[in-house]
Amino acid sequence: MRLRNVKGSRDTIAESPYVIHDPQSIKGSFRAHFPEKDKPLHIEIGMGKGKFITTKASLESNINFIGVEKYSSVLVRAIEKQENMLLSNLYFIRMDAVEITDVFAPGEVDKIYLNFSDPWPKDRHAKRRLTSRQFLARYKEILVPGGKIEFKTDNVPLFDFSIDEANEAGWEISGLTRDLHNSEYMEGNVMTEYEERFSAKGNKICRMVLTAPLS
Ligand code: SAH
Repeated sequence: MRLRNVKGSRDTIAESPYVIHDPQSIKGSFRAHFPEKDKPLHIEIGMGKGKFITTKASLESNINFIGVEKYSSVLVRAIEKQENMLLSNLYFIRMDAVEITDVFAPGEVDKIYLNFSDPWPKDRHAKRRLTSRQFLARYKEILVPGGKIEFKTDNVPLFDFSIDEANEAGWEISGLTRDLHNSEYMEGNVMTEYEERFSAKGNKICRMVLTAPLS
């Protein structure tokens, strides 16, 4: 049996060189964590098993990437991919995104990807949605002025909610489609695990880009 199966995911994560273990201690100097320090920093929040971010990092070697994920059980799958790919422009952080402003300094991040975020369908859980006004305020703090979020989901109520929240918080919406796979934005699209699964079932994929307000 491989050691990993014996050890469990928390130990695997604790020992992985691809995980930033104490991210608050390098707040403001994430760029210095990468071999090539001058590249823009893009993060994916809720990356799951990491298919999207590992593919992105392999295609976009001019960008440094960090994948953020709350749960060890899926983060280990992303670590396994990185162990095979050995991408020098990719690290992971295990954390709840609610703490994102404790980890990244103001203006430290150039772009945020949100892919197939949990819908939290009950109204009383709206603030847990990763596109809620509460989360948009956190993202605005860590993004460069005018920084962008790229968001994909097959969940129409979540997409509509996200449009309302973005408008309410003064973010500019662009590149919006409710059928990504039959749109002009398909060129260069990197499929996520959920995107493959849901589009195979016939669900249409919604996608938009949000630009942070300057003030
Ligand atoms: N982006 C992947 C996975 C989507 S599922 C894909 O498109 O295939 C949503 C993921 O977000 C899950 O892995 C879940 O654990 C993670 N997640 C949900 N809430 C989170 C939070 N508050 N902080 C960090 N990750 C979160």
